[in-house]
Amino acid sequence: MIVTVQNLDLTYQSPDGQVEALRDINLAVEEGEFVSIVGPSGCGKSTLLSVIAGLEPPSGGTVTVDGEPVTAPSPKIGYMPQKDQLFPWRTIWANVTLGPELRRESRQEGNARARALLERYGLADFARKTPGQLSGGMRQRCALIRTLTMEPKILLLDEPFSALDYQTRLSVSADIYAIIRREGKTALLVTHDISESVSLSDRVIVLSSRPATVRNVHELGVLRDLPPMERRDHPAFRRYFNDIWKELDIHDR
Ligand code: ADP
Ligand code: MG
Repeated sequence: MIVTVQNLDLTYQSPDGQVEALRDINLAVEEGEFVSIVGPSGCGKSTLLSVIAGLEPPSGGTVTVDGEPVTAPSPKIGYMPQKDQLFPWRTIWANVTLGPELRRESRQEGNARARALLERYGLADFARKTPGQLSGGMRQRCALIRTLTMEPKILLLDEPFSALDYQTRLSVSADIYAIIRREGKTALLVTHDISESVSLSDRVIVLSSRPATVRNVHELGVLRDLPPMERRDHPAFRRYFNDIWKELDIHDR
């Protein structure tokens, strides 16, 4: 298992009192697997990813990555937070080479990786533009390339498509899926969108409302070998969608 989460609890201490966000979460992700975590808004999804990323210390339980306990951010993990985190004043090139620059690694190696990824994924001609000159989908691809430039083994993606309109979201998610598969990465995607989880992943973990607990886990069987767009047309898609929908605590609101 490349990621394990055992008996994880997290309670925030805030001036207004305590907020219990995570309760006894257990999960494991295999190398190369694409796992989605779905749950209602505010249940604790982002909290869970930030604990796995080593950014938030848990109140109890353990997280391991590649067999080692997580206590701080690790270069093995590429974390894409919820907000588009490209710097608007930097060019695409300056954005995607930011990671190696901050890590103070040899400029040559970081630049070579960035250049290869921009070329492989059709952004080389946009290197001198700024994020504002790109479409939402291209910005998302650029954000992923920036993360890949750091050569993480695991990608943590927090609602990466939520700012895009519906049509764009379909094509951009298929695009990002293809890149993650081609690069052979392990991915953990957080979303509140059931269709997105069923169209992209091998397995879907359903969380309850806050405090988040694991309600169920769905292996996506026949859908696993299909690309996202074809999954949406498969009869099994609707079945998984309905099962997960019934499990989400969103019906009495
Ligand atoms: P989700 O990503 O599923 O929408 P979050 O993980 O962002 O949910 O938040 C879970 C709960 O924890 C929410 O009630 C949120 O208000 C609360 N929360 C998140 N961050 C903090 C924080 N730093 N301090 C106190 N409460 C927080
Ligand atoms: Mg969130």
